[in-house]
Amino acid sequence: CGISAYIGYREAYPIVINGLKRLEYRGYDSAGIMIYDGQQMQLSKTKGKVSDLELITDKDEKRKKGTIGIGHTRWATHGIPNDVNSHPHLSQSGDLVIVHNGIIENYDTIKKELITRGYTFKSDTDTEVLVNLIEEVKKNEGCKLGKAVQLALTNVVGAYAIAVFDKTKPDEIVVARLGSPIAIGVGKDNTEFFVASDASPFVEYTKNAIYLEDEEMAIIKIGKGVKVRKINDDTRVDPIVLKLQM
Ligand code: GLU
Repeated sequence: CGISAYIGYREAYPIVINGLKRLEYRGYDSAGIMIYDGQQMQLSKTKGKVSDLELITDKDEKRKKGTIGIGHTRWATHGIPNDVNSHPHLSQSGDLVIVHNGIIENYDTIKKELITRGYTFKSDTDTEVLVNLIEEVKKNEGCKLGKAVQLALTNVVGAYAIAVFDKTKPDEIVVARLGSPIAIGVGKDNTEFFVASDASPFVEYTKNAIYLEDEEMAIIKIGKGVKVRKINDDTRVDPIVLKLQM
């Protein structure tokens, strides 16, 4: 179970894939990646190892081309390890994509409610329920992704590290943590950012790291920076940028 993501100006694919490899020690049964090329999201995912994922992406260069990427290694908790249950997961509209480590304990109740509102599900995961809850909140409130993630998470019981991307606002990634780690690497002049379960995937690119605390979320925006908030009471947190020594 690991998360590795990149948003910036470099090709995201090698950064994200190498990041996933550095996180392999955490253990996993499936791997996946989303690459956004400025227009479309390409999802590649499979049961098995990161090296199995590379066999898929190697067949089609399109799957590797883009400057935004979100990768995941899964340790299945809800739904058996198979290709469909592997992350990332898309929302119903196809606009939002999520990777998630952890468990959404009340996913069943939320899923039933979403089904009555017309949602259908491709996978058996708790994670696909969460991305559709975020989509539903975003639609109902007419709010931006960050707010929708925040409101959705206040309705969730469980543990998570998540990274969410909205292709209709492709200059930001929203992350949140409760019980599973999230580190953010901050590139020079906010031109690029890295997200990972620990700093090892990005230490070769930047020494500036922000570690989220439990119950915190961050909106990571190109050209702007990292805005950290408490999920539950909406207070702003001044992020502490650590200098990595490794
Ligand atoms: N609960 C999620 C799933 O089963 C995430 C598991 C994980 O931490 O990798 O898909």
